[in-house]
Amino acid sequence: MSECTHNCSTCGESCGSRQEPQSLLQQPNPDSHIGKVYGVVSGKGGVGKSMVTSQLAVTMRRRGYQVGILDADVTGPSIPKAFGIHESATGTEDCLLPCKSSTGIEVMSTNLLLENETDPVIWRGPVISGVVQQFWTDVLWNCDYLFVDMPPGTGDVSLSVFQSIPLDGILIVASPQELVSMVVEKAVKMAEMMNVPIVGLVENMSYITCPDCSKKVYLFGEGKTREAAERHGLKLLAQMPIDPRLAALTDAGRIEDFEGDWLKGAADALEG
Ligand code: ADP
Repeated sequence: MSECTHNCSTCGESCGSRQEPQSLLQQPNPDSHIGKVYGVVSGKGGVGKSMVTSQLAVTMRRRGYQVGILDADVTGPSIPKAFGIHESATGTEDCLLPCKSSTGIEVMSTNLLLENETDPVIWRGPVISGVVQQFWTDVLWNCDYLFVDMPPGTGDVSLSVFQSIPLDGILIVASPQELVSMVVEKAVKMAEMMNVPIVGLVENMSYITCPDCSKKVYLFGEGKTREAAERHGLKLLAQMPIDPRLAALTDAGRIEDFEGDWLKGAADALEG
């Protein structure tokens, strides 16, 4: 047999230097209490992934759970603003402390660490991945449900989250147009390849409700969603309309004041 080149693609399977595949999963802060961890993913940006993450957190908090949001969308963090959190995160020698929303939801995000929250994050992929890992390993979480707002798509940071954080499952967020494209399929396949269970699909921006007659208008066609979800082998957990009141409250940092309960099906699935 030829000598080992330390390049496993050229060695034989019997090479003595071959190592068993090693888990890249990281341990959370030893003082953290973390129940279930769910990633919220989307095939691309702007479909309402952060909105669904925030609404899910609010729904679970209303059900009496301790809830946290780890904002892994490092270059486009929008969670603190939706909850009206503008202060900086603090820490001790041993840990970083998450900020708390008005109803007690714990939040950690790069925006809470920047000197100025409008500063852009101009960091290379490995640095961003490192920050996300630190949000898992260094932050002192106390939550029954931790939601990870993943970056859109299937890039570097998403991969790093899948590899380093032990996710109990993921929820996929898609808009109706996105559902009929291949973008969702890529997210589904990534989760399958990473052996993470998919809890189901949340469709956002499904319809609008006429303010005068309350009729639902399906801008992108009705009935296609269930069919598309089935095609991707996904359970349709919830359908959220476009709601100007929700957008206005989110922009004002008062997402917790919104009373809609569209994510009931998704919350039931997580409780189950
Ligand atoms: P993503 O995280 O997928 O990039 P966001 O959650 O940041 O997307 O949503 C993009 C924009 O659309 C935000 O301004 C958000 O407030 C708004 N938005 C998302 N979902 C809805 C909705 N159902 N109704 C009204 N506005 C929404």
